[in-house]
Amino acid sequence: MKHKNISNIKTGAKKRVLRKKIAERTKKKVARKPAKRKHLDIGSLTGKKSLFDHIKGSLVAFSKKKEGKSIPEEGRIISMNEPVKEIEIPIVLKEARKNPAKKAPAKKRKKAVAEETGLMNLPKPRVAIVSLTSCEGCQFVLLDLGERFFEFVKSVELVDFRMVEDQEDDNLQLDLVLVEGNPVTEENVETLKRVRARAKVLAALGNCAAMGGVPEIKNYQKGKSTIKHVYKYIHGISNPEIKEIDNFVKVDFVFPGCPIDGEEFLKYMPELLKGNVPQIPDQAVCLECRKKGNKCLLLEKKPCFGPMILGGCDAVCPTARMGCQGCRGLRPEGSIKVMRATLKSMMTDEEFENVTEIYGLRDDLEEKEKKEKKEK
Ligand code: SF4
Ligand code: SF4
Ligand code: SF4
Repeated sequence: MKHKNISNIKTGAKKRVLRKKIAERTKKKVARKPAKRKHLDIGSLTGKKSLFDHIKGSLVAFSKKKEGKSIPEEGRIISMNEPVKEIEIPIVLKEARKNPAKKAPAKKRKKAVAEETGLMNLPKPRVAIVSLTSCEGCQFVLLDLGERFFEFVKSVELVDFRMVEDQEDDNLQLDLVLVEGNPVTEENVETLKRVRARAKVLAALGNCAAMGGVPEIKNYQKGKSTIKHVYKYIHGISNPEIKEIDNFVKVDFVFPGCPIDGEEFLKYMPELLKGNVPQIPDQAVCLECRKKGNKCLLLEKKPCFGPMILGGCDAVCPTARMGCQGCRGLRPEGSIKVMRATLKSMMTDEEFENVTEIYGLRDDLEEKEKKEKKEK
């Protein structure tokens, strides 16, 4: 704010009054002004640009003068926005900055700093989240986890996730790859095979990748007539059969659902990152449904696939008074025969088939029925 130029005011008394007022105001402002915050500019130290790279590694820093508190232990990670009175860069960093490498080209300098600070030696699992042909809803579930997703991101080296950055990955080895969507185009199939070849563990992310999903409905219709709904002239348009990713590559684990469940993602990721394949318990949707105190839809003669479907979704559909349609897939121990018999009075066989087509359940169901007959 500009102050009035008091030198133009003629009387000495007025000048004195004005000077006094200005001095008082300035005094008050100084008193109200909050302590200046200093942030550690991690970016300038590591020379990396993305948020993930900023967070990369346990950059050692400590607060020197924290009033009334003991000096925090060394090795603490200072977050990007944490206000601290004064930051002292550890000796190694200072030395790294004094190092002749500073005069080297920027790229080499950054590498030297990273090596000196040990950033390069920290083993973080390399993870890629690859999306084939999909609605990307499962990736949105991850973003919906908000800070908790960023916490996960801090614990890994994320080399590919197009929702966040459009960066080409470096084709190096991967500890874990998560695949969303169907391999519909030839390019999709190639991408899928390429990431599989580089990954120790591959997990399907959602119903499309694991079971064919909504796009698989097309397989049950007459192919040509379906495509005409989309394209006026179908000459030259490729219309391949929709196949789950396990038709092309080995799948180690499935995050089921359409979309996946964010809590389940956080629950099973630590094991997957260690290279282990977790096991989702064989529990029906009914278990969570009853725990929530819902009145069973079947008792109201409303169809629900809950008893034969793998739980873990917190029974969202029956809780909203909609029958489960099986987006998480069949339970290993669920009985289709019993389910069909239960639903007989509530829906025709055709209606039953139609519901099983929504999330690509139909082919799994037919296969299991054959198995059940053989076991008889
Ligand atoms: S599983 Fe559902 S949410 Fe996920 S990509 Fe497929 S259609 Fe979208
Ligand atoms: S409403 Fe569906 S999920 Fe819930 S208990 Fe009944 S059959 Fe099971
Ligand atoms: S209730 Fe059934 S359809 Fe609904 S989210 Fe759960 S498994 Fe999927």
